[in-house]
Amino acid sequence: MQTPSAKQLDVLVDQLIELDGQGRITDVRPARADDEAEVTLPQTSILVPGLIDTHIHAPQWTQRGVGLDLPLDKWLNDYTFPLESSFADTARAESVWRAMVPELLSVGTTTAVYYSSIHEEATQALAAACAEHGQRAFVGRVAMDHPANTPNDYRDSSPADGLAASRRSIEAIDRLTGDLVQPIITPRFIPSCTDELLTGLGRLAAETGVRIQTHCSESLWEHGYVLDRFGFSDTDALASFGLLTDHTVLAHSVHISDADRDTLMQHGAGVSHCPLSNSYFGDAVFPVRHHLDAGLRMGLGTDVAGGPEHSMRATCGHAVTSSRMLEAGVDPGRSSWSRPGDRIDMTTAFWMATLGGAELLGIDAGLLSRGRVFDAVAIDPTTDPSFVSTNQTGTDQGGADPGGTDQGGAGMAESDNRRFERIARGGGTITQVWVDGVLTHKR
Ligand SMILES: [Zn+2]
Repeated sequence: MQTPSAKQLDVLVDQLIELDGQGRITDVRPARADDEAEVTLPQTSILVPGLIDTHIHAPQWTQRGVGLDLPLDKWLNDYTFPLESSFADTARAESVWRAMVPELLSVGTTTAVYYSSIHEEATQALAAACAEHGQRAFVGRVAMDHPANTPNDYRDSSPADGLAASRRSIEAIDRLTGDLVQPIITPRFIPSCTDELLTGLGRLAAETGVRIQTHCSESLWEHGYVLDRFGFSDTDALASFGLLTDHTVLAHSVHISDADRDTLMQHGAGVSHCPLSNSYFGDAVFPVRHHLDAGLRMGLGTDVAGGPEHSMRATCGHAVTSSRMLEAGVDPGRSSWSRPGDRIDMTTAFWMATLGGAELLGIDAGLLSRGRVFDAVAIDPTTDPSFVSTNQTGTDQGGADPGGTDQGGAGMAESDNRRFERIARGGGTITQVWVDGVLTHKR
């Protein structure tokens, strides 16, 4: 089951997938009786493309589900900066990465776009852990140097020092073998960075061709701070520093205008939509449908630990939920606070979690088709009680994903769509996970 577009679910039955020696798909075709496959999945098993988490803060791993009672600026200063500063202890960092990376693989996250901390050693250890466990990753040392908006004990000591550390971090990650783990230039966000550092990082990106990630128009406070400092939007400020490039990943972007969106599209940048953390910190619901229809690149992110859940399948569910709230309105006294027609369905959410994320990053993942990497997740749907009940009794009563164009065979369309919705939201059990054709998790 996979989503070749935001509006299309494909269900292919009894397929054989052939790979070359590098884990790239050379053919997908109906299986024949005389095929001798290296791996044969049970008849009930469902194979989906690997999930792509386009925004996750690795050093906040141990903070999941904690401290979400504060607004963004207080949350950062009271909880998050003190935690991240502790990653100066590289042994501590390594122990967290050892637990985190395999757990993320086990929930199907085959690609992760990580914020690390400001520490070069911890960041290099994160890249090494991803390489060791076989997770595709973009790993960014966080650059932050603004004396007024960062703690004294957790910032780059000067713009020059921050820039030099980011450059060394890129070189260190590039020295790891292969393309599986790549560096990404990571200014935390504009409030944390001086103009000089932002300018330097823009030049570093132009010089090296390394991708960029940052936060953009994340909350009313952050959006307003940038307006006050520059007199124009976060998007325009990032563009002025050379930080909007092809495949730049901008987390949140809740408060971008349509003009900002058009600017992002002109640069080839896109948004990591983080529905759960936006609920805590965004001060609004990001209008996914509105910007997708305009053609903006968009993936999904857990934003651990602004988002307390690390499962991308759960995040798909949250994307649908928040879009429903946006569509219907959130204030019982003000019906005008709604955007009719702005909901998305699970097909769109899952596309964002797979192919949408791959297109945002510019990688050949997100779809199981010829020429793409074999990043894939096998799911046993029979462990979901709802699934078993539905299929045994045949009581489907409509309401399946209206956007789906099931190709799974006569009479099965509704059941396949419903099965997809359940597993995309987290139903069933993940049994195997492959990255680049290599088995990285087995239950
Ligand atoms: Zn974030």
